[in-house]
Amino acid sequence: NTEYTPAPGTHDGFVHVRGANENNLQDVEVRIPRDAIVAFTGVSGSGKSSLAFGTIFAEAQRRFLESVAPYARRLIAQGHTPKVEFISGLPPAVALQQRRGTASSRSTVGTLTTLSNSVRMLFSRAGDYPAGAPRLDSDSFSPNTAVGACPQCHGLGIAHTVTEDSLVPDPSLSIREGAIAAWPGAWQGKNLRDITTHLGHDVDVPFRQLPKKVRDWLLFTDEQPVVEVAPERDRVAKPYKGRFWSARRYVLHTVAESKSESMRAKALRFMRSGPCPQCRGTGFRPEALAVTVASLDIAGFNATALDDLAAVLRPLADPRNAAPGDLAGGVAASIAADLLGRIEVLANLGLGYLSLDRGTPTLSPGEMQRLRIATALRSGLFGVIYVLDEPSAGLHPADARPLLEVLEALKASGNSVFVVEHNMEVVARADWLVDVGPGAGAGGGRVLYSGPVAGLEDVSESVTRRFLEPREDAAVVRTPRVAEHWLELEGISLHNLADLDARFPLGVLSAVTGVSGSGKSSLVSRALAHGLAEKLGGSRRNGSAGTSGPDDVDPDTDTALATVREVRGAQRIERIVAMDQKPIGRTPRSNLATYTGLFDAVRKAYADTVLARERGYGAGRFSFNVAGGRCETCLGEGYLEVELLFLPGSYGPCPVCHGSRYNTETLEVTYEGKNIAEVLALDVDAAAGFLAGIPAAARSLQTLRDVGLGYLALGQPAPELSGGEAQRIKLATELQRARRGHTLYLLDEPTTGLHPADVQLLLGQLHRLVEEKNTVVVVEHHMDVVAAADWVIDLGPDGGDKGGKIVATGTPRELAVHPESRTAPYLARRLG
Ligand code: ADP
Ligand code: ADP
Ligand code: ZN
Ligand code: ZN
Repeated sequence: NTEYTPAPGTHDGFVHVRGANENNLQDVEVRIPRDAIVAFTGVSGSGKSSLAFGTIFAEAQRRFLESVAPYARRLIAQGHTPKVEFISGLPPAVALQQRRGTASSRSTVGTLTTLSNSVRMLFSRAGDYPAGAPRLDSDSFSPNTAVGACPQCHGLGIAHTVTEDSLVPDPSLSIREGAIAAWPGAWQGKNLRDITTHLGHDVDVPFRQLPKKVRDWLLFTDEQPVVEVAPERDRVAKPYKGRFWSARRYVLHTVAESKSESMRAKALRFMRSGPCPQCRGTGFRPEALAVTVASLDIAGFNATALDDLAAVLRPLADPRNAAPGDLAGGVAASIAADLLGRIEVLANLGLGYLSLDRGTPTLSPGEMQRLRIATALRSGLFGVIYVLDEPSAGLHPADARPLLEVLEALKASGNSVFVVEHNMEVVARADWLVDVGPGAGAGGGRVLYSGPVAGLEDVSESVTRRFLEPREDAAVVRTPRVAEHWLELEGISLHNLADLDARFPLGVLSAVTGVSGSGKSSLVSRALAHGLAEKLGGSRRNGSAGTSGPDDVDPDTDTALATVREVRGAQRIERIVAMDQKPIGRTPRSNLATYTGLFDAVRKAYADTVLARERGYGAGRFSFNVAGGRCETCLGEGYLEVELLFLPGSYGPCPVCHGSRYNTETLEVTYEGKNIAEVLALDVDAAAGFLAGIPAAARSLQTLRDVGLGYLALGQPAPELSGGEAQRIKLATELQRARRGHTLYLLDEPTTGLHPADVQLLLGQLHRLVEEKNTVVVVEHHMDVVAAADWVIDLGPDGGDKGGKIVATGTPRELAVHPESRTAPYLARRLG
């Protein structure tokens, strides 16, 4: 017998998957090389994620957990075990998905990337200390540690204080006239005035005319002299002993001690919260702030854009600048060199405009993922598979090449890089391509091709094939619409937009372009969505139907609001709808059926069945969100949280309703042979056939198919939907509305997650909105969309402080020849 059997533990350099049936996968068998960059392609819903994340990553993670913790097996039994017969050659895997930081987290760019640890070390070991000051350990450079926090504000950076202004609102009054408004009223106040007179101060001149020393003492002293007071005139019969309270002491005492709610509330009015004066709002202790590196204190260092930090670190990192035998200098140089290397990776990924102190809740999902990719590069892991979800999201075409270099570097350090990707620039440069399809949902789920990129050319079934090569045939030939009216904004200020003027043509499709960080979102999602709406008085700010308004500001992520000095032309806009990528709901209780409203029509149909009427079930009975028809064990969630020591909360299917969300009686009612839970399990395509008899539902379902979401299950919980899917659901919800026109639609990178074939579909729908006399403004990197717009506004020239200006505007053809625009060459190529 000469048959070769590899020894256990060896592999042939391939991950071999057999019998994969996760979601829509159809018994997939595929061999994928390790130590390579592998692109997974296919239209949305074809099954790329089900293969890369749902099968390969999930199985790797399952095996890993199984190997680390016995109790984790229980979790796995409840959680996700992929439907796959067998996978061999599978190393551990790390998923870097696009996810926003949790809104409440205090994490920052510095903590997420762990750069903050090195920065603290740099300040501790290599900082310039004031003469005679002792060296501090690196914990002292963190406001989040007991030794590092500012003692006055405990590291929060916020102080509640009283000031002369807050205590004395009108300094033209005398004390007798009540200048010190913070003092109590009635007889107590008169006593304080008597005491003040007795202490030798004039209570009859305007407060502001008192010497500063006197004013400060009266307002702020902690001294409490007790004096014998002979009352003025005959108010009090006998002399008495009175104790002095400065205004501050009185206010603080009242806030802290008073039993009376109204007294406390009154006292609070005289306090201001603002940056802590001791640490200037930074949260660092004063000793730490006294230490500098290249003249920057740690707070200043953290607030500096990464591009500029690199320039600061470059000379420090050069070992030639340390004196021979200078041990400390050598250590400093090596810390600085390490920091510099890591910062350069971030800058190469187009993130040089970020600063270390930027809170992660304010970052876009694309920015988050690129931070994680860069961090992985420095983690020192090798022999793992990194599974990435569209790493090019949010990236200008000019930055695609540096991204590839980072992926190459991950590979070079001995890892496999699997990317689900739509950007053909990135796909074309992969080592290997796995094309899934041909269609979405049941029409997909097969591996059409697995091999070197060039070989896809021979696969006639592949939808991706047509898009890999630049298409001369597809050069865009359309005549842009010409706007008759313009919306003009003057003096826009937010983030890096400083007193910017911008004008948008009405009744056409405009694209806003520019490198990451140039200010596109600030302009469109903030200045237009909020600044303009505020200016118009809020009434025209009007979101789509559904549970979470698509355009509400997330209070946790960003408190800064755009200001707009002057607006002209807004009388032609009746509504502003921002269709962003925020989830359509934060709990599994929302899904596309509830969000679009189509579920209302479905529930009514169930209530109209014979059995429901016999039993007296109304439409409410068929909601999983209220008591009555839902499963009371899981309260209609279908899942229960499984508490496990040391592990973050995990969900398992409800043992009573087995995930159906409803109680048995409710499930006995059927419409056309299906119960309500079975309808929620249908995908949109199937539901469109099944619910054809319910016009309101059918209309919703058709618009969902029009935007390419035919593959989504009606009941797929909102938190499981990608940002791009959430955005397209919002778009569909708008398209199904009665036509009104005069709406301003704002979209931020709507092509995220879309295959080039789906982009064509989306473009059709955006033009449809314009044809119905609306205005559409999209932030986009995808040149198919930019080329098909009527007008382009290009921001730049770079990110952060080096951006925020309008570099060029015009029709796509005009923009394509603009000498300063970084977008121009890519647009020119697309226009042919
Ligand atoms: P792609 O990554 O190619 O866009 P997916 O792998 O996400 O596609 O989806 C493939 C199919 O599986 C689609 O029909 C989708 O609706 C379905 N699907 C995806 N995730 C789930 C899920 N958690 N539960 C049920 N069906 C799902
Ligand atoms: P783009 O959409 O072109 O990528 P953004 O409008 O997101 O650009 O960012 C423009 C500038 O504003 C960048 O310097 C960015 O770091 C900064 N910025 C954006 N959002 C915030 C925020 N929430 N807090 C502080 N700075 C922000
Ligand atoms: Zn402080
Ligand atoms: Zn249940």
